[in-house]
Amino acid sequence: MKRIKKTRVSMKAASASVLASLMFLTACGGGGESAASKEQDPNGKVTVNFITQSSALAPADPNEKLINIRLEEKTNVHINWKNFTNDVFVEKRNLAVASGDLPDAIFNADYSDYELLKLAKDGAIIPLNDLIENNMPNFKKVLEEAPEYKSMITAPDGNIYAFPWIEELGNGKERIQAVDSMPWINVEWLNKLGLEMPKTTEELKEVLIAFKTKDPNGNGKADEIPLSFINKPGSEDLAFLFGSFGLGENPDHAVVSDDGKVIFTAAQEDYKEAVSFINELYKEGLIDIEAYTQDWSTYLAKGKDQKYGLYFSWDKANVTGANDTYDVMPPLAGPDGEVNVTRTNALGLSRGKMVVTSANKNLETTAKWVDQLYDPVQSVQNNWGTFGDDAQQNIFEFDEAKGMLKHLPLDGAAPVELREKTSIGGPLAILDSYYGKYTTMPDDAKGRMDIIKNIMAPNMKAENVMPSVFNSIEELDRITTIETDLFAYVLRMRTEWYQNGKIEAQWDEYLKELDRLGLQEWLQIKQTGYDRATK
Ligand code: CA
Repeated sequence: MKRIKKTRVSMKAASASVLASLMFLTACGGGGESAASKEQDPNGKVTVNFITQSSALAPADPNEKLINIRLEEKTNVHINWKNFTNDVFVEKRNLAVASGDLPDAIFNADYSDYELLKLAKDGAIIPLNDLIENNMPNFKKVLEEAPEYKSMITAPDGNIYAFPWIEELGNGKERIQAVDSMPWINVEWLNKLGLEMPKTTEELKEVLIAFKTKDPNGNGKADEIPLSFINKPGSEDLAFLFGSFGLGENPDHAVVSDDGKVIFTAAQEDYKEAVSFINELYKEGLIDIEAYTQDWSTYLAKGKDQKYGLYFSWDKANVTGANDTYDVMPPLAGPDGEVNVTRTNALGLSRGKMVVTSANKNLETTAKWVDQLYDPVQSVQNNWGTFGDDAQQNIFEFDEAKGMLKHLPLDGAAPVELREKTSIGGPLAILDSYYGKYTTMPDDAKGRMDIIKNIMAPNMKAENVMPSVFNSIEELDRITTIETDLFAYVLRMRTEWYQNGKIEAQWDEYLKELDRLGLQEWLQIKQTGYDRATK
């Protein structure tokens, strides 16, 4: 599941040290095709030079992949790839660009917003708006069906600088990213102790006390860990519990009110109550003493030993296995009867997936080739893998009558490995409407989506989330600077309050410190971005 999960658009500004040395004298690309390049080949085949990255499990030459063999036949475009494995790609990519010896395009570029804007400013990459308008009917069709992406991929100056990767699995409240950290409770222990699934925060506390004191694993030792988590924003955090007290919390500390106001969660009254509740659990000795220090492998080891009463993760299969010992704990009512599931702002969008450089003399050909990747059946294969490969296991079979790709049983193969060997990634779009029409859904996503749809979404009170805002360089500079100190302070204070319970006494001072660290400016930038993206 890690592959599907890793879809948040990175807002982090990249190191600009390599880029700062760039001196591009070339003007932006003109848009004309070079006659010379078409004459290279008697069949009119055009060759273009791309840099890319792929998994070490994949063939070193991407042209050995069946997907690329078919694409070359279909488009009459030969790609001369310079392929790097994922681990060294960023360094090699930056060196290639800094040398000034630009490829025609960078595929699977994975540039951050900051990098895209910097490269555009330096003239290394070109705006794609006209190419999209004139040469890319498939991509235009995607943007017509899902117009929200158009504003999300457009820079504040009105230009589109990269072809995006879009992967929807559900949408709105039901999208797979809508809840990041899910609570998994040991139902075997509940059954053994004759306890019901908790429905309120008070009942949860009683259940955790029983886990601690009644030896549910039956070994005569008090070795059970009633509650564990990894104490930082992310899939293993316990922030899910905060929803029982009001607006709740998510990894961005940002929710949006129904009238479109951006709210900083960690400065709200309900946040204070939620933190106090965690302190109550702490005082009862219910929290894993390693929660504040453990890394993933420590967390996983105890999970595999089934030591946890309640823990948090994207998918239980990653921690305690795909068995029935644990089940999702539905959202709890808080002291005021409040039930709320806080939505995360994440979505399956990577803006900087492919860029075209100012050295490209075959712009129309390049655009037409990329447009093929936005054909629905092609996008699905590029994302997950293909069909009809005689040499290795296939992800799909193709139902020609229906024009639909159907997932085949994995027969024990690891889905991520098989995908990495055979898919090509790159710019593509898989919209939620494609399931049942162009493709079936991957099994590893389906179970999670059923939980979101049936258990979580009905309890999500917020109608809005933060869209993926394309900020300016100036905004990104400020956001990064402010968040570095602000978010660290929030985490530090939350952690102290979990353990010492002094939140009530220190709250006013804390609010003042948030402002000193730039909270008001942060809110203003976020609000401006929200308004721009949703207008
Ligand atoms: Ca025990």
